[in-house]
Amino acid sequence: MNEPSPVVDVRGLVKHHGEGQGRVRAVDAVDLEVPQGQTLAVMGPSGCGKSTLLHLLGGLERPTGGEVRLAGRRIDTLGEPALARLRRRSVGFVFQAFHLVEELSAAENVELPALLAGCSRREARRRAGLLLERVGLADRARHLPSRLSGGQRQRVAIARALANDPLIVLADEPTGNLDTAATLEVLRIFEELRSAGQTLVIVTHDERVAATADRLISMRDGMFVDDTRLAGAGAGPVPEAGTGTGWLGGLIGLEG
Ligand code: ADP
Ligand code: MG
Repeated sequence: MNEPSPVVDVRGLVKHHGEGQGRVRAVDAVDLEVPQGQTLAVMGPSGCGKSTLLHLLGGLERPTGGEVRLAGRRIDTLGEPALARLRRRSVGFVFQAFHLVEELSAAENVELPALLAGCSRREARRRAGLLLERVGLADRARHLPSRLSGGQRQRVAIARALANDPLIVLADEPTGNLDTAATLEVLRIFEELRSAGQTLVIVTHDERVAATADRLISMRDGMFVDDTRLAGAGAGPVPEAGTGTGWLGGLIGLEG
């Protein structure tokens, strides 16, 4: 039998922002494979290229060079309509600032991606109900975002990201605006997703979030400087970035 394609397969990925003197190499010759079901945390100082990397993986930005494959399919060469369709169907984004539609209720926010993907209203509503229940917000379905706490908003945003059963969820500092209690609620959901085999890439500054991942990559100046397998949730504190001796050098609790 053939090995399944990794969900993410990136080769020689480069992204420049700006031109001439002001040109920034936000992502600088990165190779990355994320197999199905892996939870990957990416950490690194502000400005090192984490958000740019996520945008490239999810087709929100186009690379300057290199190749991006999602489930074996080149996405960097797709035209805009096909790319938009792929983002809608196959990628779930979660942002630090939630980005909910303020005029729509929690349930309507979660229904939206399914409706945009061509689902019936009834099916979209059914999925939204299940997803809001899964994130513990069944009783807030009719509330507008303005009546929800930050943690509740982010849980709605996670439910929305899952609406089309995506191949991959890409989360950019999802707990960056949350207090500890709300962070722990969101973490519990990510742990559930991990157990359920959802492929997940989380950019985070929070070691508690990173500690729930299967794998931790540290970035500096657009490059990966460390890539470590973690034993996973409950494995205790994440080692300091850079304690590994390079690619796969810092293996701890390798699974499989
Ligand atoms: P991080 O998410 O790690 O903070 P970013 O990916 O946002 O890093 O940014 C990486 C680098 O690219 C930074 O130097 C940032 O200033 C620059 N950058 C990001 N987006 C743009 C943009 N749209 N135009 C110009 N420069 C950008
Ligand atoms: Mg960022």
